[in-house]
Amino acid sequence: MNPCLIYSNKYDFNLSWLNKFHPFEGRKFSKAWDIIYSEFEREIDSLWVEPIEIVSDEVLLKVHNQDYLDSLSYSSVISKVVEIKLLRFIPHYILYKLLIEPVRLACNGTILAAELALKNNNMVMNIGGGYHHAFADHGEGFCFFADAALSIANSKDKKHLNDDDKILMIDLDAHRGNGFEATIKDTSKVKNFDMYGFQSYPGIHEGDVDEFPYMIPLKAGMSDDKYLSILEENLLSFLDENSDAKLVFYNAGNDILDTDPLGSLKVSYSGIIKRDKFVVEQLAKRAIPTVIMTSGGYTKQSYKLIAELAKLVVNTNNPTA
Ligand SMILES: [Zn+2]
Repeated sequence: MNPCLIYSNKYDFNLSWLNKFHPFEGRKFSKAWDIIYSEFEREIDSLWVEPIEIVSDEVLLKVHNQDYLDSLSYSSVISKVVEIKLLRFIPHYILYKLLIEPVRLACNGTILAAELALKNNNMVMNIGGGYHHAFADHGEGFCFFADAALSIANSKDKKHLNDDDKILMIDLDAHRGNGFEATIKDTSKVKNFDMYGFQSYPGIHEGDVDEFPYMIPLKAGMSDDKYLSILEENLLSFLDENSDAKLVFYNAGNDILDTDPLGSLKVSYSGIIKRDKFVVEQLAKRAIPTVIMTSGGYTKQSYKLIAELAKLVVNTNNPTA
């Protein structure tokens, strides 16, 4: 069996008091893992790879600039990225340990996922990552580092990908991946498919609709039937137009859930499972190496949806697991 799950029990943010100020559930990764572990038990060792090291400065500098990395030694900068003003009064080394280190580890998880997906030509899910609001020179929306862009840069450096290989991003998190867009704007080889609620942060994509047909703004309140029909129609043509892709990223945020406090869409729990099943089946059918990241999700259901997606990934990769 080729491994298809990436996870470390150090992904969690052990800041329970943080929830007083932000709906982020810091333990959603380990809670999801508990479900996954109980589902696969003995098989788990052959399915799972654990990232050990945090992503190095050297790798971060492939996308980010030194000034930005230096700025993260100020609590005020960290507090801005996670949008909790009070954090600026907490010593930097505590924030580094509790916030930045888990994120740097999860970044390495996405990098590792891409290496394994390209090596084994399969689908690999990082039970974390998906930081699509991180820019080269600053972070936003709880995203410090651009893990997908870092994976692309790392895979190119290691010659697992060539400069002219086509790469796809399918971003179905409730929010537009403005950071990812910015990191790829100089290359025509990365194609972006993004369905997002345009009435919430960071707002609508500016640019010619004909030039960006797969930047798809969705109205607040959209529910299952409409959401799934827009997805099915557009994703099929996107994948058909880009059948020569060498690597796909699926940013599988579940903050499109109807009860999510930060998303504006109203997709049900079972609607999200249908969404993920559709995307996974389409990508498996086309046999393009795929990296899945968990991205946003701010409800008490988020970890269960992550676990559902992980089970789908395992069963797709290993029909007998
Ligand atoms: Zn989001």
